[in-house]
Amino acid sequence: MASRLASLVLALMFAVAGSAHAALRVVATLPDVADMARQIGGARVDVTTIAEGSQDPHKVPVKPSFVTKLNRADVLVVQGLGLEHAFLPGLLEVANNPKILPEGGAYIDASIHVQPLEVPTSMNRSQGELHPLGNPHISLDPVRGKLMARAIAEGLARVDPAGAPAYQAGLARFEALLDRKIAEWERLAAPLRGAKAVSYHQDLAYVADRYGLDLVGTIETKPGVPATPAHLEELVDTMKREQVKLVIREVAYEMPLAQTVADRTGARVATISTMAGGLPGAESYVDFIEANLTALVQALPEGGPR
Ligand SMILES: [Zn+2]
Repeated sequence: MASRLASLVLALMFAVAGSAHAALRVVATLPDVADMARQIGGARVDVTTIAEGSQDPHKVPVKPSFVTKLNRADVLVVQGLGLEHAFLPGLLEVANNPKILPEGGAYIDASIHVQPLEVPTSMNRSQGELHPLGNPHISLDPVRGKLMARAIAEGLARVDPAGAPAYQAGLARFEALLDRKIAEWERLAAPLRGAKAVSYHQDLAYVADRYGLDLVGTIETKPGVPATPAHLEELVDTMKREQVKLVIREVAYEMPLAQTVADRTGARVATISTMAGGLPGAESYVDFIEANLTALVQALPEGGPR
């Protein structure tokens, strides 16, 4: 009897130990932080993503299935700086999972090590401002991407201390990959230095800062505010005067207007994505950065390799 009880207790202990090793259920808001969490967490994490790469992160439609995902999540990873404002606060309100709330302990904000650019001097989201905490499109610069990865690895280790060495090792592998690619991308993106460009949405601040693009304006009047005819006339005049030959259109924004602006100014359109998975064959974070930089360089008038 005693030995049967002992074996039962032993079996129970194994079961508990086994469940402790079950993969951590990670919900990532956006594809970039999802890929980073997978790269860092490996087999210790089971990552699901809310938004798709081809969507506008400012306009992700809310689906009931997101609530279920968040309700069951062990961890939530966000890109941060308010980029998920359109869908996350509402979802968290109904997900009934206190630990993944911003103060709940299992909320990982990937932006914490990044110094935001374009921080407004006054809060004016009421006027359509989508970037009240500064420009949130930090992941388009791979050097800031490294800082995001570090924040995610630290967050995972905090939530799952037993996995800390694994997350540290995963981060080291991912950083080594990024370092190698960042050196390659420095050469790839060299022709962008000093190139004047207009983008559809104001999401290239960190690319400009890294690679020296000279951003002259946006097709949107300001982030989240559609172009008005008067704004477009002014933009076209500026582009003609400053000889801007590159229009950058993010895949979530409409092509016809970007093409019209380009046609009127003799510029070319480069289609990029603001997130991994937005362009064909660019599902991973690394492939996403490479696809963007390649598209930008190839659309320059002097041409990259074609
Ligand atoms: Zn934006």
